[in-house]
Amino acid sequence: MLDSIKKWLGLGDDRNYIEEYLFRSNMRAVVYMSVIVILLEIWMIARLTRIVIISWPRSFEWLFSHYRNYVILLSAAVVALIYAIRFLRGKTANRMLGKGILWLFSFICIVFGIQTGVASYAGGEQVLSFITMVVFVFCILYWRPLQSFLFSSLTFTAFYFMIDAVKPATEATQINLLTLWISTFMIAMSAYHQKVSEAEKAEGIEASNRHLAEINDQDDLTSLPNVKWFRRTCTAMMLSSAVDRNSRIFLFFDVERFKACNEKYGYKRGDELLQQIAGILKDVFSDDPIARVSDDHFVAFAAEETAPGKVYEARERVAALDPLVRLDLKTGGCIPAMSGNDVGLAISRARTACSILKRQYIRFYQEYDSELEARLKRREHIINTIDTAVKNGWIKVFYQPVVKCAGGNGELVGLEALARWDDPEYGLLPPYQFIETLEEYREIHKLDQCIIEQVCQHLREDIDQGRKVVPVSLNFSRHDFDLYDVPKFLHSMTEKYSLPGSLLDVEITESALTDHLKELQINMAHLRQDHFSMWLDDFGSGYSSLNVLKDFSFDVLKIDMMFLRNFNEKSVPIVTMIVSLAKQLNMVTLCEGVETEDQFRFLQSIGCDKAQGFYFSKPLPREEILKKYLA
Ligand code: C2E
Ligand code: MG
Ligand code: MG
Repeated sequence: MLDSIKKWLGLGDDRNYIEEYLFRSNMRAVVYMSVIVILLEIWMIARLTRIVIISWPRSFEWLFSHYRNYVILLSAAVVALIYAIRFLRGKTANRMLGKGILWLFSFICIVFGIQTGVASYAGGEQVLSFITMVVFVFCILYWRPLQSFLFSSLTFTAFYFMIDAVKPATEATQINLLTLWISTFMIAMSAYHQKVSEAEKAEGIEASNRHLAEINDQDDLTSLPNVKWFRRTCTAMMLSSAVDRNSRIFLFFDVERFKACNEKYGYKRGDELLQQIAGILKDVFSDDPIARVSDDHFVAFAAEETAPGKVYEARERVAALDPLVRLDLKTGGCIPAMSGNDVGLAISRARTACSILKRQYIRFYQEYDSELEARLKRREHIINTIDTAVKNGWIKVFYQPVVKCAGGNGELVGLEALARWDDPEYGLLPPYQFIETLEEYREIHKLDQCIIEQVCQHLREDIDQGRKVVPVSLNFSRHDFDLYDVPKFLHSMTEKYSLPGSLLDVEITESALTDHLKELQINMAHLRQDHFSMWLDDFGSGYSSLNVLKDFSFDVLKIDMMFLRNFNEKSVPIVTMIVSLAKQLNMVTLCEGVETEDQFRFLQSIGCDKAQGFYFSKPLPREEILKKYLA
């Protein structure tokens, strides 16, 4: 009850929002009213000037007393107008100054109204100018009830005594003035309450809009903002002069092995883990905008200087969430300059950089830079032009000699066919620049079939020309066996070129022997029937080495070049043991990557059957092989 009376009297504290709302309303009113005053005063000054010109000359006192009020009112209106426009355009927020100007302007209006009103009354005219000014001030000041009571009472009392002193007010004038005072006061009260209720409604609408926007901007599962919010916030940050966008970086996070978690524990636990990961990221990047994009993907816009430390910390904490699965947080980065300041593009580039880290166990951060851009461009080129490359003969076979080691002295006993991509734009590309990409996009069979056919053509040509012929080993990708029927294709090639199977060796890398083992064993059995020799390539480079020897039977074991590259006293017993183990399993041994005479002598001494490496020859184009070895 007491509260509502206080509220009605405008004695309670107005909330900031309402204060601000009323002040803005006042400022808008000031714009209209000051323009009216300015026009009115210019007109009055012009009128007066005309009188001055007609009845020239006039004394200085006359000029001063007649012009003074118009000029003061005009100046006050101009100052108030300038301030109100600046405030409404957001150029100033000094409310104290604004209030001061408002009150001063109102005060000048009232004094002017009283003075002119009294003069009119003394001249026997209506007190209209007084009434006009009261209404006028009422328009620019939404009076609070107490203020309006005091302000209007003072004004009316002062006015009453002034006119009464000039000429005693009649009862009619007294009643008229009293009625006007009460009406002014009541209208001011009603205007105040109307404005307050408008402000309350507007506040409510704004609050619910804000709430709706928040819900709209939030990711349901993790309560982090979503990417829509992230784009908007980062775009605003990049446009803001308060933020140095060149010292920031966009980060894209991907949680590797999260799928394994989902499969292992089910979706409920998966969701919990996502919430925990979101919590870690929110905590680590507490000063930066961060959002969930989808699934196990998140983005942040962090300060470049502190980003590496934060990325490292987040990765450690995410890995500790489940020691069994060891989730691996991979992060891609993109600075705004690499994306033309386009947030969407920056996210997508940071994501691309992140995707490069897939299945790389040690690396966890990659930035999108011009080198990566060039690499990706080349990758795209490889994928888009593999068919053209095959058709136009850009795929070339280089041959590397395989020589006799133990029981011989480097005599040629075979050749390994190694692919090269002779690109009109990029030049001669080595396998590491296209094999992985072709494997990733499951297009590797196109290249391998092309190599196989060329090798068969060359062998046929050599036989026909009566040249020396040695077996050629062919490299197969693990995807080849999924993508086409390898035994059938090799069979058809040997038939087409009338070649014995014994001239072709099939190299399969150890890493190919990880899945579809049964199918691979069946394929190998078929290949054996056609007398192709089976070679295990890069032995020792993977993890499953010894098991592989148990489960598969190979004719030749190619010892990976890593053993010779980091050659030390420990390598001697290891390589010796591998050679002797292979012998016990009835396999021929071939050591790759022989670069020095010492290495070759060592391999001879331990009974390694064959050797291959730069010490004998690098891979060479067919013409050079013909000249040097097969002439
Ligand atoms: P790989 O089958 O183990 O081939 C041996 C690689 O070692 C060749 O690299 C060869 O140039 C290099 N190499 C030989 N001797 C030495 C040496 O003494 N020192 C050093 N540092 N390197 C030596 P290249 O030709 O770059 O081939 C790389 C890999 O690409 C091959 O490894 C093979 O896995 C793959 N590859 C090559 N051609 C084909 C192909 O036609 N099809 C498939 N699927 N993969 C291929
Ligand atoms: Mg090989
Ligand atoms: Mg190898």
